Amino acid sequence: MAYFLTGGTGFLGRNLITRLLKREGDIYVLCHDQLARDVLASSLQEWDIPAGRVMSVQGDLTKEGLGLSEADIAALKGNISHFFHLAAIYDLKATAEIQEAVNIAGTQNAVDAAIGLNAGCFHHISSIAAAGLYEGHFREDMFDEAENLDHPYFSTKHLSEKVVRDKCSIPFRVYRPGMVVGDSKTGVAERADGPYYFFKMLQRIRNVLPAWVPTIGLEGGRLNIVPVDYVIDALDHIAHKEDLDGRCFHLTDPKPYRSGEVLNIFAEAGHAPRMALRFDARLFGFIPNQVKNAILSLPTIKQIADVTMKDLGIPPSALQFFTYPTDFDCRETQMALKGSGIECPRLPTYAPVIWDYWERHLDPEISGDRSLKGRVANKIILITGASSGIGQATAYKLAENGAEMVLVARDEEKLALTREEVEKRGGIAHTYKCDLSNIEQVDTLVADVLAEHGRVDILVNNAGRSIRRSVADSVDRFHDFERTMQLNYFGALKLTLGLLPSMEAQGGGHVINVSSIGVLTNAPRFSAYVSSKAAMDAFSRCAASEYSDVNVNFTTINMPLVATPMIAPTKIYDSVPTLSPDEAADLLANAIIDKPKRIATKLGIFGAIIHALFPKLAEIIMNSSFRMFPDSKKSEQQDEEQKTEKASSAELIAFSALLRGIHL
Ligand code: NAP
Repeated sequence: MAYFLTGGTGFLGRNLITRLLKREGDIYVLCHDQLARDVLASSLQEWDIPAGRVMSVQGDLTKEGLGLSEADIAALKGNISHFFHLAAIYDLKATAEIQEAVNIAGTQNAVDAAIGLNAGCFHHISSIAAAGLYEGHFREDMFDEAENLDHPYFSTKHLSEKVVRDKCSIPFRVYRPGMVVGDSKTGVAERADGPYYFFKMLQRIRNVLPAWVPTIGLEGGRLNIVPVDYVIDALDHIAHKEDLDGRCFHLTDPKPYRSGEVLNIFAEAGHAPRMALRFDARLFGFIPNQVKNAILSLPTIKQIADVTMKDLGIPPSALQFFTYPTDFDCRETQMALKGSGIECPRLPTYAPVIWDYWERHLDPEISGDRSLKGRVANKIILITGASSGIGQATAYKLAENGAEMVLVARDEEKLALTREEVEKRGGIAHTYKCDLSNIEQVDTLVADVLAEHGRVDILVNNAGRSIRRSVADSVDRFHDFERTMQLNYFGALKLTLGLLPSMEAQGGGHVINVSSIGVLTNAPRFSAYVSSKAAMDAFSRCAASEYSDVNVNFTTINMPLVATPMIAPTKIYDSVPTLSPDEAADLLANAIIDKPKRIATKLGIFGAIIHALFPKLAEIIMNSSFRMFPDSKKSEQQDEEQKTEKASSAELIAFSALLRGIHL
């Protein structure tokens, strides 16, 4: 007894080989080129398979009779008890021609080869796609009833099954697995398609919102997801059972979840927020197709959809699975498996390993050069406020990655010390003394930097001034508002305006603004500071709309509290959680690597959402903090202030821990 496999080097094929090896008999695997032979050889090595049990056979799916040689046919004829046909293209992005050549003509060639070898049984691994987008309950004895087969993925799977049903003159069995994901015990998978397409979106949501924040999403049809080990166990068991020829088996989950539930199960597995409110996507069915198509083909909508889907790595055709209209009956399979102990595990029990494996091995973002070193190579990075705190820590981090920087501040001595340290850490620093609140000095800085270095690729607007004072105490201090605007807005703005033309001319650039979490949470006592930061945020949002297509990106970092000289005068901050300057520099490094529109802590985003959805509630929380926390006194009163603030109650500390990182 021997086995013959097409598609033996694929995901299901390799899993099937490991299972068949537990039985008697040699295994022959069709390989069309050296690459396939290498894949097989390395798998055998990985599985520690004794030589001689698995052999490659030269052939090609697209050739008549698989293009097997006379010698191979003579050697194998009459010896193959089970011919497993797994080779196919399961790729939503593949062209119709390729899918037809491999799936339909390839199946015809496999059937001919099996007949030529006089194989005992032809096992055709079809798919639930053979049912098309059938509306309702699809049984294992149904085939011709399939409908909505327009997409080549569905039509070619349907037609290849038809080839077997019509042309296979030796005994055959058909298996239709659901959407196959990784192993339910290890999570091991090879490709990230099907439900994996939505993992990137869940991961992004997780990265910006705490897991307990409820979100809104879509609900749709049932997604029949099955782990590969169940599919292989069931296939192996049924293939070796007597008296089942000519039958079809749905290797599916008897109780599948709806698409919204599936997303929530994976959201929980990935510690992302769950969608508490889900709208049934089919609700939008009332919109006539022509209207939908007209809206979707509007250039702007199309651009947004294309960019978003590309960014998330979701092929547009994957979306139709959200409203999958078919339920798959699998009673025949369950009867055949009765007594074997083989059953499909429930998705929530194995979703965590599936997520974990994806995040460690299949997430497209872990491949490619996403290192800080790669991103700063051959770039000139200008950092303002580089002589202290966040700016200095950022300069050190970039120096460790070999960056060349232009460092700007007023204090030349401190700048020189920073340069020395940058050089020690492997970076290059050019220092410029400039008071950024003086517009003429900014103009001179721009002219000098461009003349001496030719370009600035990344501008980090970090220099800033903060004032913590209530509005009531500021009514006679208009200069507080003028000073913060002068540096945080006009200084940063003038520098940005000075560099934008050269960034556009050189083919791209990146402006990173170190803003404040206060802009998202409307912190009391920071009206002057937050307004000046909000002005720069607003400018950047508008400018981004103009520069989006010329490769100039803007990133706003809504920085939480950081333990730097800036917050040192406020003694209450000694007892509240803050980031270290190095941690703040990590956020800047992330901005350089990913160029996101915004970087904010989860609490900052949550604050913005609360302000948008329940503005009165947010106002009451912030007002309570305003009443609870003391004012910062003028310097001559500092000693007295320290005494009061040292006495800060446990209540204050608890409140500030709750509002972790927010200016209070
Ligand atoms: P920092 O340690 O006080 O450093 C401020 C830097 O800005 C210094 O290098 C200072 O250098 C420079 N600077 C100040 N005024 C300047 C001027 N007129 N012209 C040129 N440079 C000037 O403060 P930090 O905490 O690192 O703050 C950096 C940025 O983060 C600021 O924009 C701040 O608003 C923002 N931020 C900080 C926190 C926090 O909790 N620390 C939170 C949110 C946002 P010279 O004095 O030598 O000029």
